[in-house]
Amino acid sequence: MARIVKTADPYKAIKYWRSIALREKNNNIKRAKKLSKPQMYIMVNITRPFFSRVDKNDSKYIRTYRMIIYGMLNYSKSLKTITLRASGYNLGKRLAERGLIRSIDDLPQVFINQRIGLLDIVDESFNNMKIHIYECMSCYGIPNIGMPMCDFEAGVIQGALESLIGKNITKEKYCWGLGYSFCGFEVYFE
Ligand SMILES: [Zn+2]
Repeated sequence: MARIVKTADPYKAIKYWRSIALREKNNNIKRAKKLSKPQMYIMVNITRPFFSRVDKNDSKYIRTYRMIIYGMLNYSKSLKTITLRASGYNLGKRLAERGLIRSIDDLPQVFINQRIGLLDIVDESFNNMKIHIYECMSCYGIPNIGMPMCDFEAGVIQGALESLIGKNITKEKYCWGLGYSFCGFEVYFE
């Protein structure tokens, strides 16, 4: 991977990560799958370039959060998926109901404030949206473990967009857990 740009400017950070994401998408570049235990990634400390500039304690919070995911994953993978999706969905709906998300334009700043990740809307049509998240709290820096990890993030997007636009299906197609350097979600409105 190219040199990581460290900046506290979200626009510069998003521009940098978007170029990496598009290169990986267009050329179908991804990291080889690790055969080791999927859960082991959680033991590795990570530093998110943008978020650690915003808050020097970022990696500590991320470690704590990921230990929760680790615990759930060890107990039951389906429990982890369902619980985190529902938790994110509740947060997304709540943020919209409380007026913190009033339009799609509010999403990037709210995702930064909540430390979820750098949100980037890359494509929008009347019944479909493509959204990237960079430096995602759930998966940034993990190896290719053969599964998408960002149920919580997918839930936040689904819940927020349900309140703003309407019922939708949000799926994570690209993820660090699948060998990419970004998360890519596809939203289909019913
Ligand atoms: Zn992800």
